[in-house]
Parts: sequence; C-alpha cells; structure tokens
Amino acid sequence: VDWLFGKSKTKPNGKKPPAEEKKQYLEAEFTKVRVVDFDLKELVVLPREIDLNEWLASNTTTFFNLINLQYSTISEFCTGDTCQAMTACNTIYYWYDERGKKTKCTAPQYVDFVMSLVQKLVTDEDIFPTKYGKEFPNSFESLVKKICRYLFHVLAHLYWAHFKETVALDLQGHLNTLYAHFIVFVREFNLVDPKETCIMDDLSEILCAPAPPAPAR
Ligand SMILES: [Zn+2]
Repeated sequence: VDWLFGKSKTKPNGKKPPAEEKKQYLEAEFTKVRVVDFDLKELVVLPREIDLNEWLASNTTTFFNLINLQYSTISEFCTGDTCQAMTACNTIYYWYDERGKKTKCTAPQYVDFVMSLVQKLVTDEDIFPTKYGKEFPNSFESLVKKICRYLFHVLAHLYWAHFKETVALDLQGHLNTLYAHFIVFVREFNLVDPKETCIMDDLSEILCAPAPPAPAR
C-alpha cells in the first residue's frame, strides 16, 4: 500500500485506474450468461461418507486446473507491458518468496509463481496423498487456504484486467460459472478471508445468488 499511495510516481500502467466504469463484468448482459443454472451450494457441500480432507483436496485440485485453463485462454494478452503489476479492483498483490521477502512482479510473473507453487503442492504425495490410507499432514488445511487465496487473486485479475478479451472469446459464461462455483466453495469451508474476497463482493452477490426455484408445472 505504501508503494501505491506513498512514494510511487506512477501507477502500474501509468494511469489512474477508473473505478466503476471499468467493471464491464457487472453488466447484466454478461452476468446472466452462465453455462449451468442450478444451485451451486448443492455441488459444494460435503457429501455424506466422504472425508473432509479428501473433499477439499479433490475440489482444490479441480479448481486449480480449471483456473489455470481459464487463464491460459487470455495469457497472451497478460504481458509484462499490459499488466505491469498484479492488479484487481485497485488492489495490487505482491508476491512473497519462500523467505517471506516481498517482491514486486508483473501479473504474468505473479500468476506463474502461483501456478508453479500450486502445481508443486497438489502433486506432492505428502501433502495431497492419493494412495489409500495415507494421512493428510497437519498443515493441510492451511495449505488449502493458501492455495485458494492465490487462486482467488488470479480470478479477480481475470475480471479486472481481461474481461474484454474473455468476452471476445465468448468464454465469459465459463468464467462466471467457475467464479461462482469457487466462491460458494470457499465460503462453505471458510477457506478465504472475507477481507480478501470483499473487493469482488459486488460480482459475487450477483453470481452466487441461489437459482430461483423451478416454476411449478
Ligand atoms: Zn493481466
């Protein structure tokens, strides 16, 4: 924040981010486009007889793959020039390296750090065990929270910086469905601090409202 309000001379792209006008993703024309329309809550609740950690592991891995795929559709537009910082709704995310050192990086670098780290975690048999009877580590829940927080940053950046390109590819329905499913999931298990997700609350309220009851026949 110091960097943003204090000594900085220019904003990342050299211009002031327009606050509201840029939120094309809130327009009704786009928020009504969803691939599926049913109650997402039913998709995320822990099914009976499934272990909580197993459920968190399989969902987290799936979200990682889907968000990685969604980002890849616009990655050619997310460059060090177009996205000099990892921004979303006037927020700038900084990457903290393994020693906790804050690093300034471009959005594509940040996303690359996120995806590499998550890939490493979800394929680590000691953290995301796939063999029957193998225990989850004590740190499992905090690692899942960390992953979800990073994946949220990528989703927020997709809306904030790449919604136009997503619309041009006609993939906004996929993005909205993925986003709504993800938000309902992290809310169900308290995986991301609401202080983190509040920057996107306006969209979340629209997209995550339960589907209206089916009309009686
Ligand atoms: Zn970008």
